[in-house]
Amino acid sequence: MQVTLWGTRGSIAAPGPETARYGGNTSCVGVVGPEGTMLVLDAGTGIRRLGANVPESVSRIDIFLTHLHMDHIQGLGFFAPLYREDLDVHVWGPGSATMRLAARLRRYLSPPLFPVSLSELPCRLTFHEVPASECDIGEFRVRSALVCHPGPTVGYRITQPDGAALAYLPDHEPALAALRFPSLPRAWTSGADLAADADLLIHDGQYSADEYACHCGWGHSSLDQALAFGGLAGVKRFVPFHHDPAHTDADIDRMTAEAIEAGRPEFPVTPWTEGTTLQL
Ligand SMILES: [Zn+2]
Ligand SMILES: [Zn+2]
Repeated sequence: MQVTLWGTRGSIAAPGPETARYGGNTSCVGVVGPEGTMLVLDAGTGIRRLGANVPESVSRIDIFLTHLHMDHIQGLGFFAPLYREDLDVHVWGPGSATMRLAARLRRYLSPPLFPVSLSELPCRLTFHEVPASECDIGEFRVRSALVCHPGPTVGYRITQPDGAALAYLPDHEPALAALRFPSLPRAWTSGADLAADADLLIHDGQYSADEYACHCGWGHSSLDQALAFGGLAGVKRFVPFHHDPAHTDADIDRMTAEAIEAGRPEFPVTPWTEGTTLQL
């Protein structure tokens, strides 16, 4: 599978010269299979550029939302393929205890917050609630599970028949459940089953260790916690994600180097820049 980062930022878009390298767009990752199946992970502002790169030949797109915080849905109305009449778009995401996914999304995609209502979009839209049992989409198998973050939030695991596995946990605070992290075994740690032995883990690394001390319970990880989580899960490669909007490119370089020095992970850690594509 081909994995492209279209938006790496968390919380709010943060464009500017000091964030140009890692990028200012919020969470969005594109996954394309060898047979052309196209999955989109989250619909942050990065989805606009992804949409501009969808070939006309694509007849179906599946968008997997981890949760409905604004930084993960804000780009949806600007995703050009939604305005194609010949396209099947499947949107997967969590409902709440009182509202289904479509009703929750409609609160944003309707006036006065957005001029076009969901029901007016020309494409053929289908909604699916998660977490759900494993589903097969083209050459992919997708699994979802609730993870530790404020409000209903899931992580995803995407596998191919040949075994390549991608785990996507952009907003995740597994350390919240442990006095010292990681002190619990894999089975008791939020998200660890999804990430187990993954070829690539894309994971929340919003804070430095010092910053986390002031943000415990906000739903995000420090980079050293994220690397410890990757070690517990036994991942083969790690990409820090959901960068804090206040962090400059130089900050992310420094934080990454410090976390690697402190944690000595047994896997490569690469903070990809926006637009990077990796073949898994
Ligand atoms: Zn977020
Ligand atoms: Zn969030």
